[in-house]
Amino acid sequence: MQKNKIIGSLIGLAVGDALGAAYEFKRPPYNINENYITGGVHNVSIGEWTDDTSMALCLAQSLIDKNGFDTKDQMDKYLSWYEDGYFSTRSECFDIGNTVARALASYKNTDEPFSGIAGDNNSGNGSLMRLSPIALYYYQDKEALIKYAAQSSQITHKSELAVDVCIYYAQLIAGAVKGYSKEELLSNEFIDTKDMRKEVINVMKGSYKEDKVYKPTGYVIDTLETALMAFYRFDSFEDGLLHVISLGYDTDTVGAVYGQLAGAFYGHNGIPKKWTNALIKYNLLYSTAEELYNNSSVQKVNFNDEMHKKIHILVGDITTINSDVIVNAANYRLLGGGGVDGAIHRTGGSKILDECKFLRKTRYPDGLFTGPAVATTAGNLKAKYLIHTVGPKYRFDSNHVELLESCYKNSLMLADDYKCESIAFPSIATGIYAYPKDEAAKIAYTVINKLLVNTRYIKDVVFVFYSQEDANIFKKSNHIK
Ligand code: ADP
Repeated sequence: MQKNKIIGSLIGLAVGDALGAAYEFKRPPYNINENYITGGVHNVSIGEWTDDTSMALCLAQSLIDKNGFDTKDQMDKYLSWYEDGYFSTRSECFDIGNTVARALASYKNTDEPFSGIAGDNNSGNGSLMRLSPIALYYYQDKEALIKYAAQSSQITHKSELAVDVCIYYAQLIAGAVKGYSKEELLSNEFIDTKDMRKEVINVMKGSYKEDKVYKPTGYVIDTLETALMAFYRFDSFEDGLLHVISLGYDTDTVGAVYGQLAGAFYGHNGIPKKWTNALIKYNLLYSTAEELYNNSSVQKVNFNDEMHKKIHILVGDITTINSDVIVNAANYRLLGGGGVDGAIHRTGGSKILDECKFLRKTRYPDGLFTGPAVATTAGNLKAKYLIHTVGPKYRFDSNHVELLESCYKNSLMLADDYKCESIAFPSIATGIYAYPKDEAAKIAYTVINKLLVNTRYIKDVVFVFYSQEDANIFKKSNHIK
């Protein structure tokens, strides 16, 4: 679901840009074609996009290359687009906004990435038009989302209005990726308006619902208001986009801005195929969005409050933990053993062993392979279920990374299938199976952090360590303070 939305947002931006490009600066009323047409001030060809998409691609690629936000790398990429046509549809850059051009010139002179132009007079839509990669990369992490939405604007557009609009719009896109309804996204409570400029608050509070003439000039407030009006008023990606483009003026950018949010909301599947298929460099756009999805920031400490999901660490005996599911680091025989396995069977009682014997007789006559996960009830333990998984033997299983990832992934997903809300993991494979604890820690945390976003029921994951020393290794390997 999230993937479809993330890809939809970037492709939606490009579709809006490409559909609007042929009408840029036109005065309404005029008829618009439901397919791409050629022409306009830049004489675009069918499905050709402009600076909005080129800059969004630069930003997306920078987040991917740098594993996060790096202002200097972003400015370097914008500069290579401007000077060498990097991520352009042509061999050169053919369309650039004034504020961006001034900021890039200043960056070239000073090497200072925060070269944005300040002041209300410089509140163009040039940072809003390329914003969505920030939201798609940081949608799980509200704090980072707000901080980087602001900074992504400040490097070219320092105006408070442009910055506030980016902060607001990034949260809307992130909310759409997470699956919020339109009512929720557009409600007054969705975003904290504290410290925002009154012009932005006025739009947030619903100026876009008014029945009036919308004129999407290059002023960021006009662009925001028009894009939200179409998002609010229409029930499909297509109808909203055709409407904003029929209003004239900065058609490609208002299309791109609408497309970022509507694409995230309706998803890639919700954008007409006649538009996606005919986009120039569609495969590049798709694969960049896919990479954004694969790399989207994993939160380093725990999940934000909005998702009500948490990862935490405990030191103690896993058999004493009060969670819906306890994961057992089993061996292939499923009949008990040393370490965690031994402790679980000892404390959990014979009912667990009976169920394991039954599983051996029925589903696993040759034992349980390394990687999959299987559930039994939990006997005398406080949990509802036990999930048994066999970790890799570090020295003998050459594909131990994939196998250990599978143990965590399959256990988490199985617990979610059982509609459980909490799960406790031991440090799988780091005992008798001798997986180095630091390497195992990184794998465990990365897999769980990534997958927890998608669980329907599980919202609480605890990693249980037998000693404080092991917990410290886990924290250090994952940069957790
Ligand atoms: P494996 O066979 O997968 O290597 P082990 O059970 O031998 O698994 O050990 C896994 C990790 O669990 C080790 O780091 C060990 O210190 C820890 N451990 C052992 N017993 C317990 C327990 N009762 N509660 C929590 N952790 C435990």
